[in-house]
Amino acid sequence: MHDPRIGVDLGGTKIEAAALDAQGRVTHRRRTATPAGSYAATLGAIVELVRAVEAELGARAAVGIATPGARSLVDGRMKNANSTCLNGQPLKEDLERALGREIRMANDANCFALSEAIDGAGRGARSVFGVIIGTGVGGGIVVDGRVLTGENGAATEWSHTTLPFLSPGEHAPYACFCKRADCIESFTSGRALIAWYRALGGDDADGTAIGSRAAAGGDAAAGRAFALYEEALARALASVVNMIDPRAIVLGGGVSNNPRIFENVPKLWERWTVPKDLRTKLVRAAHGDASGVRGAALLW
Ligand SMILES: [Zn+2]
Repeated sequence: MHDPRIGVDLGGTKIEAAALDAQGRVTHRRRTATPAGSYAATLGAIVELVRAVEAELGARAAVGIATPGARSLVDGRMKNANSTCLNGQPLKEDLERALGREIRMANDANCFALSEAIDGAGRGARSVFGVIIGTGVGGGIVVDGRVLTGENGAATEWSHTTLPFLSPGEHAPYACFCKRADCIESFTSGRALIAWYRALGGDDADGTAIGSRAAAGGDAAAGRAFALYEEALARALASVVNMIDPRAIVLGGGVSNNPRIFENVPKLWERWTVPKDLRTKLVRAAHGDASGVRGAALLW
């Protein structure tokens, strides 16, 4: 472990930087809007944030960065980032040059999983699968306190594989950007919940509101949309159990704010898991929006 550590969360709309103390507590925090569409301006914004936090700390820090997409292990360039100005750019090398030090970098879902595994909802579990269910869906695997990055930097691409156990004629409620028909994200994102609700006669409520209406009862479309959502999530997570059989699955992101998911999904997933009477626990993330900066700092 290094001290002090700064984590940077590079998001599509904002960039956040935070310093962590030796106990893993966030001590200094700064954020700025992500410069839209400009790689050079994005680099500059990250460097400026790190320097500002270091000025407050009065010390030089070890820096970790959570990014969308992944860094190619072949040529070091970014790929699959929804902030498309990053794609094809050697972000890690450029930041190391600008900051004058080695930095560490990981996908944002991996940073989320790491933050929750080290001292969040997955604390004490040897193997943790972390999933962010928001506008998009991303997963990350942590075993013995370390992120499993994979040989192709693709260990988080689970969400862009076809939802398992599809019934004949069953399709996702919308088409994902990945263009793989019926991928897990297109069934389990907040967008999926919204699309189902509208298709069932609901209004243009967001995912959080649909979840609240489903929990309150009295709105049949919300109840049905949420049931479809839970069933799809149970199948997606059953495939994770059948593959890596983690001790804890931690859910974060907007849709995870509905407590009924944690009650219902574990009742559903054993229909598709090969092992039964699962010891795997499904838990809600402990660190909320801070998971990106925390996980990035914890790369050191
Ligand atoms: Zn997809």
